[in-house]
Amino acid sequence: MRNRFNYRATVVLRVQEVAPNSIGAELGLQTGTELLSVNERPLEDFLDWEFLTADDAFVLRARLLTGEELEFDIERPEGMPLGVALQPPRIRRCANHCDFCFVDGNPTGMRQALYIRDDDYRLSFRYGNFATLTNLKPWDEARIVEYRLSPLYVSVHATDPVVRRWLLRNPEAPEIVAQLRRFSEQGIRFHTQVVLVPGVNDGTQLERTLRDLHALGEAILSVSVVPVALTEFSKHRLVRSPRRDECRAALAVVDQWATRSVAERGHPWCFGADDLYLQADVPLPAAAWYGDFEQQENGVGAVRYLQTRIAAAQGGYGNWRGKHIVVPTGTAMAPMMPQVLAGLESETGAVFEIVAVENSLFGPAVTTAGLLPGAAIERALATRAGADLALLPAEAVNDDLCFIDDMEAHELAARVSMEIRFSHDFADALSGASPSAQSSMRLGVEEGP
Ligand code: SF4
Repeated sequence: MRNRFNYRATVVLRVQEVAPNSIGAELGLQTGTELLSVNERPLEDFLDWEFLTADDAFVLRARLLTGEELEFDIERPEGMPLGVALQPPRIRRCANHCDFCFVDGNPTGMRQALYIRDDDYRLSFRYGNFATLTNLKPWDEARIVEYRLSPLYVSVHATDPVVRRWLLRNPEAPEIVAQLRRFSEQGIRFHTQVVLVPGVNDGTQLERTLRDLHALGEAILSVSVVPVALTEFSKHRLVRSPRRDECRAALAVVDQWATRSVAERGHPWCFGADDLYLQADVPLPAAAWYGDFEQQENGVGAVRYLQTRIAAAQGGYGNWRGKHIVVPTGTAMAPMMPQVLAGLESETGAVFEIVAVENSLFGPAVTTAGLLPGAAIERALATRAGADLALLPAEAVNDDLCFIDDMEAHELAARVSMEIRFSHDFADALSGASPSAQSSMRLGVEEGP
């Protein structure tokens, strides 16, 4: 490693934390150190950092807290991490104004982060967030190709440019088919979604969208059709939820393309979200239909995924015999829970009580468990004082264990009479000891699969 002085940084990418005894620590990097360039290429974000430092040898230029700029010629032993965590990236803001935007569906007075309209291809690659690709600069497009950011998760909604621009309320939105084709020629692959807005992109528009996406071949790994989700605060003058017959009609189009894809490609390719089946009052397909459950975080096959996880953990559950376990969940999932938990009762010996919790923050139309406020869960648990354990949906809290209404998990734990555990799939939370055997486990969030 060698040092040189007096380089000028162009972009600010800062260190958040440096692991002790790491290469980063040896270099003298600290919280707040500015990382300026690697091999003379300026660093903008975590993607540059991760891709440009992937080699075993590179030159890093950084500005220390003293203001001194240094250049480090780094050769690291194979596989040895740098031990540098970066400050969170500045989120790319959305260029659209969809009538159904979840931000408009928020009540006022919530934490600031919930009002951010993000549309960020970087987070699409990293976390599977859906992005529209309407805010890409030529530089971003080049980076997607160079860094092979694949697969990306893309909100297509409609392939007809006029309809898509209408849905996004963005007259500048580029033509999505041409955009996807350009990327696909460079080897980029996509999981896509259509948020179904009745009267706008259903019917013949949905048929066209699926036809156009199918014609892009293997580049489109999957398509999901998700009914638009609205809250009490959404723009109901401009957008409405689909009726049952509209959901059924959409499922018929999905089935048609899925059947064709099974015949031609050996897998369904096109999926209805669980919510589409629920709203259509049509039974969900079997677990095998969903293959690797690639869009389960988008609510596609989530119920079957849960059942699969519970079944896979058979034989690994702790002794819960005689325990009373309360399961608060959203009103959409509650009717499905008896079939999900059927095997679990006999496997664990526990008695499960499913509690359908109405969303007191967004209104009863919001039925997903992931948006349940802590206050509503607290009220539901207050009347179950004799229970031993409450299993809460892990998706209802953020990384800071904070519910959507800003109640923190430890606050809830202090206010209710039973132990609480967050769980992704029941198996994660019930595989360990029961509450009486491990009373110190007052609050835990189990790792998801
Ligand atoms: S793409 Fe539409 S729904 Fe998504 S953040 Fe932007 S305005 Fe909201």
